[in-house]
Amino acid sequence: MKRATVSRLIFIILFVGLAGVVFFVPLPLHAGQQAEHRLTLEARRFAFEPAVIQVNQGERVILELESVDVTHGIYIDGYGLKAVSEPGHKARLDFVADRVGKFKYRCSMACGPLHPFMIGELIVKPNLPYWRAVALALLATVGSVVYLWHFAQSGSVTRVSPHPGRRIELTRIPLLKRLLQWRGFQPVLMLGTLFGFVLAVMTGFFGTPVGSKNFAIIFVWIVWWAVLKIVLVPLTGRLWCTVCPIPAPGEWLQRRRILVKRENKPLSLARKWPRKLDNVWLQNFGLLLVTTFSPIILTLPLASGIVLLTFIVMAVVLSLVFERRVFCRYFCPVGGFVGLYSLVSPLELRVKDAEVCRNHREKECYLGSKEGYGCPWMVKPWRLQRNAHCGLCTECLKTCPKDNVAVNLRPFGSDLLVKAGRGLGEAYNALIMLTCALLYSAIFLGPWGWLKDWAGVTSMSGRALYASVFLAINLLLVPGLFLLATALSKRLSRVRGISLKQLFISHSYSLVPMGLSLWIAFSFSFLFVSGSYALSVISDPFGWGWDLFGTRSFPWTPVLIELVPYLQVATLIAGLVFSIYIAYRIGQQHSADESQATCGEHRRTVRGLIPIAAFLAIVTIAFLRLYLG
Ligand code: SF4
Ligand code: SF4
Repeated sequence: MKRATVSRLIFIILFVGLAGVVFFVPLPLHAGQQAEHRLTLEARRFAFEPAVIQVNQGERVILELESVDVTHGIYIDGYGLKAVSEPGHKARLDFVADRVGKFKYRCSMACGPLHPFMIGELIVKPNLPYWRAVALALLATVGSVVYLWHFAQSGSVTRVSPHPGRRIELTRIPLLKRLLQWRGFQPVLMLGTLFGFVLAVMTGFFGTPVGSKNFAIIFVWIVWWAVLKIVLVPLTGRLWCTVCPIPAPGEWLQRRRILVKRENKPLSLARKWPRKLDNVWLQNFGLLLVTTFSPIILTLPLASGIVLLTFIVMAVVLSLVFERRVFCRYFCPVGGFVGLYSLVSPLELRVKDAEVCRNHREKECYLGSKEGYGCPWMVKPWRLQRNAHCGLCTECLKTCPKDNVAVNLRPFGSDLLVKAGRGLGEAYNALIMLTCALLYSAIFLGPWGWLKDWAGVTSMSGRALYASVFLAINLLLVPGLFLLATALSKRLSRVRGISLKQLFISHSYSLVPMGLSLWIAFSFSFLFVSGSYALSVISDPFGWGWDLFGTRSFPWTPVLIELVPYLQVATLIAGLVFSIYIAYRIGQQHSADESQATCGEHRRTVRGLIPIAAFLAIVTIAFLRLYLG
């Protein structure tokens, strides 16, 4: 083994060992006096008062729950304690606070639309898990920068290749290839998801207004969202777009067919999409619109039903006016961020040999053939270098007569280093997603009742004020701070021949792994806490008293909730380290002269990394504060 490899291994082992010590080694704790902490906890829709309870480890806590409007319950995470109070009747919990950390207490009785977010915090001091997590984040930041500095100095960090790592071609598996080339592959999957979608719209319109008992809320915003963020996007990129039901009716109308391919005139004016709008700004706008109103959309089934129906109607209308899938490519707010985060995923569809494409003029993959349709996403497969706009519809696998299209496995994050296609629209998409994860965590998972009231307010003036603050944080404050970090980075790295705007755009791609990890961490809170609602809702999707599968009475049961903080810390730290690495590689791309990079260039690159790493560390610590602090 080379010396550089050995020293790298030693560094990594030391780093992981130190991280283990920071996080796991028990500290001698103050035994705590057998003091008593008596308090009355007032519960009203949708907040507890006090919202935060602080006690010392070892104290006896005598807590009286008093509901002042409707029946409320309390469940304390980590302690597993429960009580229910009806208006006028107090309930009592008596326990010793023997475990340190932050434990959410939440309403355990469905009490209205914001019920799943009626949360308070019990902090048992000293809050060691939080301080350990902060120390870990700082250690990960400093360790990553030192690692890159040291190995840059020794010259053992290699130059950037636009397509690093090897590919494993999955379409070499004959069965998989046959399946993907089968015309029914996508329509059959879409028919399945379309059934769920129609049910979600109908339950949104006609089902119970109580979110935790309605299919539209539980299956769209908890089950689908968590599966999308935790599994589908990180591992398969845009695979969701393969099965997404929203474009299905419009596309089938446009083609006048569902399963077979026929050469007939499309049922569409088949207008071309204007070049000026060939970007992601409409999706950013849609994303901001939906996220501004999300406290209402996520909690009121009717609002969810209206949004879902609007999406499908838009998709149909756009299919009848424009060629191909304009809704997916330019409008769908989900498609916007799924496309951005799919840059991280280890799955890609690419041509096998660019030379074959160069010599093949017919371009059936784009224009279509009797085997299938031309790329519905307006992508020219032979130019595909990144996942962002490929909806994995598999049409080009069917149409390419040269068998020159493959589905590959590749290293995580490969596309983040591809320069082609970077733009301000995607940079803003990365920043909006990062900021929304922060704001959602504060609104939905924080103890601040006033913030939930404000976010859910329906009066025009209140909503306008909330929207203004929400948009200002998304469009000005966080991008402004990131611009500042980028300007400092430019100064420290003394990079030449690139504008601040271009550097801002490039470095924004380092936020993508972190953004994805923030959303995964956020989704853990929902899935483990509220996932059990799915069992009762599947039997009674409208909340009308049905019991289709005999599970209607399944009680709300938080699952493995004590694991959630650990999963969140691990995810956030992994996202932080990955983002720092990508920021370094992007900085390396902008070194003054890549072809003749010297040790000095590497040092300047690492110096330029420091402000970006600091920004990433601050974001991570802000999330740790919200989840554990
Ligand atoms: S049809 Fe096949 S070979 Fe021809 S340009 Fe498209 S991907 Fe390349
Ligand atoms: S590139 Fe191929 S798989 Fe991707 S959207 Fe276009 S036709 Fe579908």
